[in-house]
This record gives sequence, structure tokens and C-alpha cells, in this order.
Amino acid sequence: MKKNYSPATKCIHSGYEPKNGEPLALPIYQSTTYSYSSPTEIGKLFDLTADGHMYSRISNPTVACVEQKIADMENGVAALCTNSGQAASFLAVTNIASAGDSILVSSKIYGGTTNLFAVTLKRFGIDCIFFDQDIDSESLAAMIKPNTKLIFGETIANPALSVFDIERIAKVAHQAGIPLIIDNTFATGVLCRPIDFGADIVVYSTSKYMDGHAVQLGGCVVDSGNFDWTQNDKFPGLCTPDDSYHGLVYTQSFGKLAYITKMRVQLVRDLGVYPTAQAAFLLDLGMQTLDVRLERHCKNAYTVAKFLEDSGYAEFVNYPALESDKYHGLAQKYLPKGCSGVVSFCIKGGREKAEKFMNSLSLFVNAVHVATVHSCVLHPASSTHRQLSDEMLVKAGIDAGLIRISVGIEDINDILEDLKNALNKAFE
Ligand SMILES: *Cc1c(COP(=O)(O)O)cnc(C)c1O
Repeated sequence: MKKNYSPATKCIHSGYEPKNGEPLALPIYQSTTYSYSSPTEIGKLFDLTADGHMYSRISNPTVACVEQKIADMENGVAALCTNSGQAASFLAVTNIASAGDSILVSSKIYGGTTNLFAVTLKRFGIDCIFFDQDIDSESLAAMIKPNTKLIFGETIANPALSVFDIERIAKVAHQAGIPLIIDNTFATGVLCRPIDFGADIVVYSTSKYMDGHAVQLGGCVVDSGNFDWTQNDKFPGLCTPDDSYHGLVYTQSFGKLAYITKMRVQLVRDLGVYPTAQAAFLLDLGMQTLDVRLERHCKNAYTVAKFLEDSGYAEFVNYPALESDKYHGLAQKYLPKGCSGVVSFCIKGGREKAEKFMNSLSLFVNAVHVATVHSCVLHPASSTHRQLSDEMLVKAGIDAGLIRISVGIEDINDILEDLKNALNKAFE
């Protein structure tokens, strides 16, 4: 595949290139195992001296095509798919951080990742230190400790909708000799390619826009190949012998592919988090329309955000593409094509009006999901943050009247009419 195609073309053509007479659609290789002609050839696979599929816990030809497509779209050297976004974040971190290490994480990240890092990884001895992603570079640099192995943030945070200053924070990380990992789930490679701004590793929940139809759960880790793991002694797992492969050293044997290769042949081998060929096929099908879908998601969401802002019923509206938004400047730099379909707003009158409004919607689906073709709505105070009292909600930065909307790709007039009707009913 020629590298200079735009993402809109790559999301259709990259990864799988059928030869003369072969199927146009990506074939589903429904096989756990692969056939070889001799034990010598299988031995080479175990020594990592030959390429090839060994067992579908580690790689599969259908999944490999999708991995290639995503790597190509992101301008990375390689990608690895997983069976959830959570698995991708877990692998991305534990590939380079072990017990006794710490990681520096934006406090605005997705709640599921917060649980994974702050609670579960803590049990494994990895300390998660949160930082305010808007603090100045010097203060951030001062938070990096000798045992800090990485910085982690989200391009557009779910659900805070803050925009991460990738280029600035990548510089802080690189000055300290550690990589920047970016969760690009909401933006996707169509709206922002973090590697172009200095991010070293990109992670995904492909369950969101990449799939786009709410049919498969998946994740992905993309390696830029740009980080020099040998520049200091912080990454022994990559630069010293791995006993499970006869003392092989990843940086020596695989160069720019060291990080992603170690992740596959060590962690994915051991943890069992690889996706099925069926799931990869569905993801690929979704990705073929990623560019056109996001164009409509962004356009519809901007119209909805403007409408809510002007309606008189909102205390405030969060959408980084809005001129009034705190992150508008960063959005112009990192997300010039749009800021995805997710908008949040705080309805006047708090919890009571929020519930009335949501009960009055008919096109919007009440769902604990975002980033699908269907318009969805969620009230954090009565769902994801249900355990908290109104007082505790304020402390957590979630207003009782906050509503998260994932604007779908339906006709904008139907979307607006549904919102207008529901607002009128809530306030009649
Ligand atoms: C949903 C989500 C995840 C977790 O992904 P799953 O596929 O649900 O495991 C991680 N990061 C972000 C930003 C998400 O929105």
C-alpha cells in the first residue's frame, strides 16, 4: 500500500490486498492452528527466527490484516489487536512497567481505565500518579520520578471532552527519557494521528467509532517505532535477555518492532487477550466507512452543541469544536476536521429536569455506549456515578444535571426535533 494515501482511502484499502482472482472481502480465517511441513519449521516459529502464524492465541491472518490497516492509518510501524480496549491499555502499560514502577496518568481519562490503573494495577505493585493535563510543562516534569515509566492521556477524554496537548506533553516525556501513550478512541486516525505529534504508543477501544455499529468489542495498540528503548536503563524488559525465548533481547533482534513484538510473543501469549477472526472481520467492515461516518458524526454533533448552547436550557455545553469551549484552541490544532459525535451538557434544573428530558426522548436510545451510528444518551448521575450523593457528585466534577449525548448519523432534522420536543416537555 502506498503510504501517501489519505486515511479515508487507507481505511478501505490498507491491510488486505487481494491478488488476482482472490476474494475482494477480507476472508475470515476460522482456524485456531496452522499447518507446517516439518518440526524444523515449527521450531523456527518458537525461536522467533521465522515469520508465520503458530496459534490463534498469538496471531491470525484475518486479525493481522486489520492490524496492518490500523498501523498504516496511524503512521505506526506495527499494531496489535486485543479483545477489548481495556486489554489494550493493560498491555500497553505492563509491557514496560512492572511491580515497583510508577506511571503518570491524566486525571481526565475514561473511568474504566482509572479503575484499571489506580485499583487493579496497584495490586500488581504499579503506582498510578494522576496529573492535571492542563498544568504547565515544568510542574509536570517535576512529577516524574526515577521509577516513572510512561505518561498516559486521551486525545479527547471520555466523558470530560478535554483535549490533550499531545505535542507539548510528548516533549516533557521525551526529556525525561520515557514514552507518551495516547488513548485515541474518540478521535480515531481519521480526526487525529497522535504519532504525528510525537506520541510513541497509541491505544484504542475499537468498540467505539472504529467499529461504529456496536457489534464487536475490541482494542488495539499501535507502535510508532520511534522511541529509543536503549537510551537509558529504564526498560530492562526490552533490552535484557528474555528467558522464555532462550535469552533473546527484543531491541537487538527486532529494532523498531521491539515493543510490539515483546507484547505479542510474551504478554499476549501468556494472557489470552487476542480477538477472534470473526470480531476482526466485523471491525474491518466498520472501519471501511470510518471516514464518512465521522464526517457526519462531527457535523451533527456541532449542530447539536450549537443548538443546546443557544436553547437557554443548558447551564453549559462541552464540545471542543465550539468557539466558547475551553479546549477550542487545542481542538483547532489537533482536531481540525472535528471533535467526534460526543457532546455533554448540564441541563438547568439538575437531576429532576435531566430525568424528565431523558424520559421524553424517542429517537435517542438510553445506552451505556457511545460512538455508534445510533444517537445515544446517558445520565451519569443515575448510571455510571449512581452510588454518589449529589454532594459527592460535585466533588467528582459531575453535575447532577450533566447529560452525555453521543450524536449518531441520522438526519440532523430528526435529531434536533427529538431534542426540542424533549426539552419542551421537561420544562412545560
Ligand atoms: C470504552 C473505552 C475504553 C475501554 O474499551 P472497551 O473496549 O470497552 O474495553 C478505553 N478508553 C476509552 C476512551 C473508551 O471510551
